[in-house]
Amino acid sequence: MKFIKKTTLVFLLIFCTFLMYRYFRNSYHISRNGIQKYEHAEIYIQAGHEGRTKGSTGTSSSYGNEIDWTPIVADEATKILREAGITVIRSKADRRKYCVVDLALSIHFDGCEKQCATGASIGYDDPTDKPAADEWKAFYSTYYKHKWHDDNFTKNLRYYYNYKYTITRDAELVLELGDLTCPTQAKWMKKNLKNLGHIVAYFAAKRIGKEHLIPKPYTI
Ligand SMILES: [Zn+2]
Repeated sequence: MKFIKKTTLVFLLIFCTFLMYRYFRNSYHISRNGIQKYEHAEIYIQAGHEGRTKGSTGTSSSYGNEIDWTPIVADEATKILREAGITVIRSKADRRKYCVVDLALSIHFDGCEKQCATGASIGYDDPTDKPAADEWKAFYSTYYKHKWHDDNFTKNLRYYYNYKYTITRDAELVLELGDLTCPTQAKWMKKNLKNLGHIVAYFAAKRIGKEHLIPKPYTI
């Protein structure tokens, strides 16, 4: 009997230590009153697929791999925004932490078995994101002169897994910047990856009223 009591106590202790570890390790905590811990910044930028070795690792073509391109765009956008004094959370594909931000952008490139059947598109989970989505489409169209799809045209865009980690004041958008399996789009994007980062940074700054801090991207 004494032994059983002791074992129970030890197990209880281990269990409590585990719970405490989980609580302090995570930078967020959800209780009945909502999210208790989270990270905060003005802009959140996620490089699609970055860091993954299995599962959804993105699309590829002879021009390049999505998983290699998204960090180039995300890093450049982050660098430009931070140099302007704008706070950024720069996220890889899997970062299961809640973030409270003004604007969250996930960078992707699309691909298709049927060459050039696809193009740029935007995904979001809420009608309140639409004004930002419309502005992105209009702004990016001044640089990107190729095909567009309707908003949320794939399930991946409609039900993007990361929406639940970003709590935004303005919008949370998945930006498919173009089709990297389509030669005309892929060639243009490949030589402009850093410029795409600049375009993303300028757009993000504009949404929070700070575009005057960033030089306007040049026409490419
Ligand atoms: Zn993708």
